[in-house]
Amino acid sequence: MTNLPHPSSEQEIIDIVANQRKFFKTGATKSYESRIENLSKLKAALIHYEAELHEALKQDLGKPEFEAYLSETGFTQHDISSTMKRLKSWMKPKRTLTSLLTQPGSSKLYYAPLGVNLIIAPYNYPINLTFSPLVAAIAAGNTAVIKTSEMTPNCSAIIRKLITETFPPEYIAYVEGEIPETTLLLQQKFDHIFFTGSPQVGSIIMSAAAKQLTPVTLELGGKSPCIVHKDAKLDIAVKRIVNGKFLNAGQTCIAPDYVLVHESIKEAFLAKLKARIIYVYGEEASQSPDFARIVNDNHFQRISGLIDADKVWVGGQTDAATHFIAPTVLRDVTLEDKVMSEEIFGPLLPVLEYKQLSDVYAVVDQLPQHPLACYIYSESVEVQQEIIGTVQFGGGCINDCIMHIANHYLPFGGVGESGIGAYHGIHGFECFSHKKAILKSATFMDIPLVYAPYKDKIKFLRKLLK
Ligand code: NAD
Repeated sequence: MTNLPHPSSEQEIIDIVANQRKFFKTGATKSYESRIENLSKLKAALIHYEAELHEALKQDLGKPEFEAYLSETGFTQHDISSTMKRLKSWMKPKRTLTSLLTQPGSSKLYYAPLGVNLIIAPYNYPINLTFSPLVAAIAAGNTAVIKTSEMTPNCSAIIRKLITETFPPEYIAYVEGEIPETTLLLQQKFDHIFFTGSPQVGSIIMSAAAKQLTPVTLELGGKSPCIVHKDAKLDIAVKRIVNGKFLNAGQTCIAPDYVLVHESIKEAFLAKLKARIIYVYGEEASQSPDFARIVNDNHFQRISGLIDADKVWVGGQTDAATHFIAPTVLRDVTLEDKVMSEEIFGPLLPVLEYKQLSDVYAVVDQLPQHPLACYIYSESVEVQQEIIGTVQFGGGCINDCIMHIANHYLPFGGVGESGIGAYHGIHGFECFSHKKAILKSATFMDIPLVYAPYKDKIKFLRKLLK
């Protein structure tokens, strides 16, 4: 049973997908001009609804306005502007080399839209993670059906209004729903599914997609390590770790999940961490205007249950009525602690120590997933390169946390269980495009090498393919 105000019925879902397919076939989404016009419309709508979106983010997640603009509305507006600036050059066919066997000729890649896309968003950055994929889908000339999370109903209500007022449903449609509606959606034939969420649901999405051979992009999560080596600049490291971890009360897929700190600097690191958290959020973090809340009761209970009171170094306070969990540091944590058994996705930072880098690799290897991100704090290029070369992870930073997501020149995505595929900037355009590979053979001459009768042509072929 769904409690949503506008749950979509089975027939509505079937009609939306059928109408989008019909509309896509008219070619109306493909021209450069139509893509630019629709991106402009989307940007104008996001600006128009900015205040309402900020208010909804406040209601659903207690998100401070600065964070709402930085990581959601402003992020998406900037994404649109930068996409519009570069779209013409992205759309141009790209020349490749042409092999000896296919001479004389020339070769090019043509970017073709995939068609009808399903975009499923999670709760933690409901604006960014709905609209960033949508920007890429529009830029690449597609249609899209959007499904947001039922856990952020206020944001969903504004997103619904924004999408239905801005676009006809045969082009961009909004489907409201929980698991039953999403299950119905997944029974339809899409040309591509772009899913952001947990690895557990990612697996459900991929199984459903497999039945129709629908390609998927999966942006998932995991336990992302943050390694603080003995030569790290500690003051900078601490500032950036606190920022990356406690943004959105830790409900960030690429937040450092846990810290591995070199034993020789552990105490200094912990002392600075405590001082920084108090400086940023005050002695009473519940009074800070700059700290978000946990999305709902379930997650509040789940995260609170991961706090071991004996290991609390900073924070530890909770308030069920307001879904408040203080920025919390747990010290002397080991792999046996409950907090290391799952992705935390909340404001708890376990600190583990290591003696040598091989201990770091052993910890990462014992956790179930290839992490989505990894952060390395060290002044040594050798250490930085060794960790990058040894640990398998999606992406990350040297001497910073989470900021790689803000560089749209870098592809954003996971590896293994933390995701399949990547987007942002040109990588988003490519994610929603098919690269049609075309060889154009010359007609001014015709080399008869590959035609039968073959006679003794194999001698030449052997030389050519050596
Ligand atoms: P979730 O997987 O529970 O939900 C994501 C979406 O899937 C929602 O729209 C939800 O309604 C839908 N869904 C839930 N159960 C479903 C089911 N059984 N069948 C079909 N659809 C279903 O994720 P969440 O709790 O909203 O978000 C947190 C997770 O997302 C974390 O693991 C986090 O790391 C990950 N995440 C990843 C990224 C990234 O970019 N890689 C970004 C944000 C969040």
